[in-house]
Amino acid sequence: LAGCGIVSDGSSSNAKNNAGGKAAGNDDGKIVIGMSMDTLKEERWQKDRDIFTSRVQELGGEVKVLAANGDDATQLSQAEQLISQGVDVLVVIAHNAEATAPIVEKAHKEGIKVIAYDRLINNSDVDYYISFDNVRVGELQAKAVLDKAPKGNIVYIGGADTDNNAHMFKEGAMNVLKPLQDKGDIKIVYDQFSKDWKPEEALKNMENALTANKNDVQGVVAANDGTAGGAIQALTAQGMAGKIPVSGQDADLAAVQRIAEGTQLMTVYKPIKTIATTAADMAVSAAKGEEVKADKKVNNGKIDVPSVLLDPIPVDKGNLDTLIKDGFHKLEDVYKNVP
Ligand code: BGC
Repeated sequence: LAGCGIVSDGSSSNAKNNAGGKAAGNDDGKIVIGMSMDTLKEERWQKDRDIFTSRVQELGGEVKVLAANGDDATQLSQAEQLISQGVDVLVVIAHNAEATAPIVEKAHKEGIKVIAYDRLINNSDVDYYISFDNVRVGELQAKAVLDKAPKGNIVYIGGADTDNNAHMFKEGAMNVLKPLQDKGDIKIVYDQFSKDWKPEEALKNMENALTANKNDVQGVVAANDGTAGGAIQALTAQGMAGKIPVSGQDADLAAVQRIAEGTQLMTVYKPIKTIATTAADMAVSAAKGEEVKADKKVNNGKIDVPSVLLDPIPVDKGNLDTLIKDGFHKLEDVYKNVP
């Protein structure tokens, strides 16, 4: 299932003749939201899709979902497909911050508003943006690692260069790391993005970082749980897993289990329920022509995009129960590998 293009809600496809401008939803007046997703690969995205869809349904609408499997051309053509089917609002989770800009233009030509979900669409007139405070995510990751490794060599394993978020996570991490490097306490000895957020790319990066520094590494700031997994695999091969701190993000089950076992220091939990529900509310309001609440501004290189930015929560061994209380994971799953 993961990564394929799917239409999620099983409703009859009702492509409409959209000639003459503004899409008007279904013929029966039902609101239809299009959701164009980069990928369903990381665990979180399936939650995003499912919670978003059920909230829109609760509000009386329906959602058409297509996932592009990390391919720019596919995402563009899928978005065009949704536009021509006459969705009322288009929600985009961009694989590529720049390459998705034409989607916004095409949607606007048909009078369809576009919401950038989790990832910003750069250099476009995108209508709204909803995400977490991504600079803060990076700051939380670096702070946690430096807490355990206040001196020495630090490795930065970034996300996808094409994802605006990866740049914001890095900006946040560097906000924390650079002043300490200037002070002479730490040294950033390696700093690379990992193509398409792939764990195997992160694994290669970490291997290169270890080789280049003869394993003299005291901490790893990894941008998400997938890349943390790759980095920890490289550390395991050198007998170093659990001996140096590694950060992450998303509270993926595998990562949370690693935190319980002690091979990963922390993750940044982003309550998917909040972003998906709020985004659904925004999409339905926009579809109805109602005012959409978005009180922050984020510049995308072209405009200040009205934005909603939610708070990320750092989670380590000491507060894993946050995830359980929130219903994000089950207690027995989290501690499955802990004797
Ligand atoms: C998201 C992260 C996710 C990563 C890889 C980022 O844009 O904010 O939550 O881990 O993409 O999918």
